[in-house]
Amino acid sequence: MFRNVKDQGIILQLKTLKEANKLLILFSKEHGKMSLLVKGAGKILSKNSPSLDAGNFVEFSYYKSKSDLDLLLEVKLVNDYSNLKSANQGIGIIFYILEIINVFTQPELPTPQYFDEVTTLLDLLDSDINISNTALSYFQIKSLLIFGFQPLLQQCCICDKPLKINSPRIASFEGTIGYICQDHFSELANQNIIKDNILKVQRYLVNQNISSLQSVKLEKQDWEILLSLQNNWLQSVIEKKISAFSMIV
Ligand SMILES: [Zn+2]
Repeated sequence: MFRNVKDQGIILQLKTLKEANKLLILFSKEHGKMSLLVKGAGKILSKNSPSLDAGNFVEFSYYKSKSDLDLLLEVKLVNDYSNLKSANQGIGIIFYILEIINVFTQPELPTPQYFDEVTTLLDLLDSDINISNTALSYFQIKSLLIFGFQPLLQQCCICDKPLKINSPRIASFEGTIGYICQDHFSELANQNIIKDNILKVQRYLVNQNISSLQSVKLEKQDWEILLSLQNNWLQSVIEKKISAFSMIV
């Protein structure tokens, strides 16, 4: 049986351990989230350390240990997304994406479709930072879909009636995520009404494919409402605050 395994991954974090060892945490395509031991400050690390920044897309091989942590053998950079990293807000965007990946992915539960979505999304952002609001909204809603938390965008979360254009609605964060129709809230909730254009963008995004994603036009204020609403949906399903959100808005 082969114990040297190859895979591809997005680096989530590099932690320092004692005795100059490091722990590399990756979202890998074939093995889900992984932790690999990077031995010593010697050969491997000095040869490869430029490739071990958070957000980098790498190809790597590791030795599957029977008892201890699996050991990193080789790592090769595929893309460091240098345009994205040097763009205004680029680092914040990467940290936000990595924080969401870190929460949703699990060891030994590969999600190759999500992996391909993420690497294609990073390629897109690296080639055109102007698509960031569209791309991040897409990423938020696809993260919910892929991990089984589909927001209801067609019918009311309480009464199942179809959501109508030109009728007021507010977002639902309790239990089912999605929207609540006007039968269940008073005029006092007026400031929380989510406008038709936001819902229309969401309905568009859920049916898109990352490889053909086109930039959507919305006012700056509406992007903030959309990103913040979907971030709240994410936080409600993971029951945790996503701290890097403050870096993207
Ligand atoms: Zn209703």
